[in-house]
Amino acid sequence: MQTKYIFVTGGVMSGLGKGVTTSSIAKLLQLADQKVSCVKIDPYLNYDAGTMNPIAHGEVFVTEDGGECDMDIGNYERFLNQDIPKSHNITTAQVYSSVIEAERKGEYLGVCVQIIPHVTDEIKKRIRKIAEDEKLDFLIVECGGTVGDIESLPFLEALRQMRIEEGTQGVIFVHVTLAPSLDVVGEQKTKPTQHSVQELRRIGIQPDFLAVRCTLPLEERTKKKIGMFTNVAVSDVLSCHDAKSIFEVPQILYDQGIMDSMFTKFGKVGMVNASANWDKWNVIANNMINHEDQKVKIAMVGKYVTLADSYVSVNHALKHAGAQIEKSVDIDWIDSESITDYNTLSKYDGILVPGGFGTRGSEGIIQTANYAREKNIPYLGICFGFQLAAIAFGRNVLNLEDANSSEIKADAKNPVVDLLPEQKNISDMGGSLRLGANQITIKANTNAQKIYNATTISKRHRHRYEINKEYIPEFEKNGLIFSAESDGGKRMEMLEIPSHKFYLGVQFHPEFNSRPGFPEESFMAFLKAASEK
Ligand code: GLN
Repeated sequence: MQTKYIFVTGGVMSGLGKGVTTSSIAKLLQLADQKVSCVKIDPYLNYDAGTMNPIAHGEVFVTEDGGECDMDIGNYERFLNQDIPKSHNITTAQVYSSVIEAERKGEYLGVCVQIIPHVTDEIKKRIRKIAEDEKLDFLIVECGGTVGDIESLPFLEALRQMRIEEGTQGVIFVHVTLAPSLDVVGEQKTKPTQHSVQELRRIGIQPDFLAVRCTLPLEERTKKKIGMFTNVAVSDVLSCHDAKSIFEVPQILYDQGIMDSMFTKFGKVGMVNASANWDKWNVIANNMINHEDQKVKIAMVGKYVTLADSYVSVNHALKHAGAQIEKSVDIDWIDSESITDYNTLSKYDGILVPGGFGTRGSEGIIQTANYAREKNIPYLGICFGFQLAAIAFGRNVLNLEDANSSEIKADAKNPVVDLLPEQKNISDMGGSLRLGANQITIKANTNAQKIYNATTISKRHRHRYEINKEYIPEFEKNGLIFSAESDGGKRMEMLEIPSHKFYLGVQFHPEFNSRPGFPEESFMAFLKAASEK
């Protein structure tokens, strides 16, 4: 069996939804009973997304195997309801590191090492290895950036070569572009698409499909014009118009015949009948959209709230849980650095504090965690939100003067959150956090046990600091319980206040395990509590 490849490139500008197009095509193939996965190429020089600011680049998505990945990997996982390993996020830095390492080992002895063929070979090797190791029917590879960028050229060149090597029935190209309308009734403009395809063809790639972003459905005459100028069959110019939800996109593409056309191009005759799969998916997709009349209001108080994508998985996880209880979730992002009047939080049904790093904005989070506790407002604190909830309790209930995290104040009198001794000498910033899935043990007769209905769970992590165990007896004497732990009791994983309506902190990141139709348990419990009047 030979894996078929679909390469998704982008034109005109970033932010057109290449990730959603990639995920939707993958979903359609999965619904047709094909074994699929996705790869994201990021042509930047960071080794991974871990060292990038979420405000600039969106959330860092953590995989089961501890990859700090581009947030598109999260889209793939959610659409496919399938774990994606970190090897599926390929960056320029990883490719060049391998090539340079091989050069130093003498693997290219006597040869001048070049972008073509050595870098392009390394890119192709990585893509093919994933296809072979995972025995995939289809691998969809999304190339980050926009055609014309210098950074992505070696990747596009590698993809071009693969088309020759695998044959035309082995590889197809989908190019995502834009057809803007200058006003609501205005004509859909095709020139940006024409130019972007010209740029792609200049480097030797003729797209098979165009996925054209537009506000209203692409008109037939626009499709014809685009088809003529880009050498793409009119029926393969696909309208990707605005939808109520990203979960409608697979259906939008399907209705335009993408599957028949794609299978024909791949030499696979006839569609696979997958109506049962479609029925199940439609229930999930529709349920994600249809609850506008019933709202739960959630305040998300954090540091990186100026870009919606900074906490994209948390937003999705809230919506998955909302759909399950047939409610739509209204999320207000509140900047913890500028909040002054905490009473403004009283109008929310629940308060969520997501992950974060560093000093800036941390005081506002500590006060928020304290406000939620005092006012009996359902609270879910994730990672930083867990650590700072403990600090808030330390300061306000245990009267521990200067309770803090040594991340925030190195010489705090009461480092309620601190580094473990073995972590004190780590100097590298990249990849040195505690990353990926770890086993967690839940204590009996706790809310945590009720929420997960289990005594052990496995959850993904991304943190460096830990609850300082010295303070635990004092906490537990005063009504805050650490209800889960890991590493034989070395690390605390969950906290709760049994007397509170709902007060839960988790050291792990539950948002990365939430999928449409399969909400994560702590989000479910939080939203249920928030929607109880
Ligand atoms: N900054 C904290 C730590 O490193 C929390 C990290 C997070 O919220 N992801 O432990």
